[in-house]
Amino acid sequence: MTGIVYVNGEYLPAEEAKISVFDRGFLMADAIYELTAVVDGKLIDFPAHLARLDRSLAELDIVNPHGYDEWLALHRELVARNAVTEGSVYVEVTRGNTGERAFEYPPAEIPPTVVAFATNRPGIVDSPAAAAGLRIVTLPDLRWQRRDIKTVQLIYQAQAKMLAKRAGADDGWLVEDGFVTEGTSNNAYIVRKGRIVTRPLGNDILHGITRASLLRFAREAQMEVEERQFTVAEAQAADEAFITSATGFVTPVVEIDGTAVGTGKPGPVALRLREIYIDESRKTAL
Ligand code: PLP
Repeated sequence: MTGIVYVNGEYLPAEEAKISVFDRGFLMADAIYELTAVVDGKLIDFPAHLARLDRSLAELDIVNPHGYDEWLALHRELVARNAVTEGSVYVEVTRGNTGERAFEYPPAEIPPTVVAFATNRPGIVDSPAAAAGLRIVTLPDLRWQRRDIKTVQLIYQAQAKMLAKRAGADDGWLVEDGFVTEGTSNNAYIVRKGRIVTRPLGNDILHGITRASLLRFAREAQMEVEERQFTVAEAQAADEAFITSATGFVTPVVEIDGTAVGTGKPGPVALRLREIYIDESRKTAL
């Protein structure tokens, strides 16, 4: 990683940026993050990403160190300093550096650590993965039970993605009690008879920002949305499947555990939703 990053109030070349070995983000994954897509040099769905950052921090009793305007300025500064036209901004807030390793939360006067960086990712809009569609394998969901909090505790998601890649697939969908929860880093959907089906919100999935916007756009376009659980077998027998995430937008899924979904090609509903999402979210980009 190169470029200019942000650490606790300073913009620095990445190789000069440092945090303490006693930072709780490093020692305990005691940290929250957000990732916002950048298209045309602008932030996609920014207010919703900030609202989720606020909520995640509040769930862990970490005081949000910045207000909305400061966060927006920080994001824009990183986009500008790194000349990002298409890509993402990552921000992380940890409970801070206590100078020791202890399980108890430190006293309130210990300031949170803030780290942020921007990444150029040309091709997220004109994405080859979206044109080809993804091959998915399913894996058991072995994560903790507060997946609605966007913590940096991502080791199982990383492991699941590696297991999926080693099995020759592009990504993994996680399964609990016979039902798909979500993808390793995205929300999961199927399309049946024109209806979009996705798992309802709860503590068992991340409340995807792309999910919220997409479902709103779909309803506005008079498409039917069913928020309910679905099984792997139902997904394999569906007309279409797809995922959503901040930088993947809407990406079709063409195969699940070796079984072609629908025609085995990206489906018309998924491709239409991708177009709608990108067009609509560009209009409100900041
Ligand atoms: N689910 C999980 C587990 C994720 O890690 C992510 C994104 O990182 C998502 C869903 C999608 O969320 P969003 O649309 O806010 O990027």
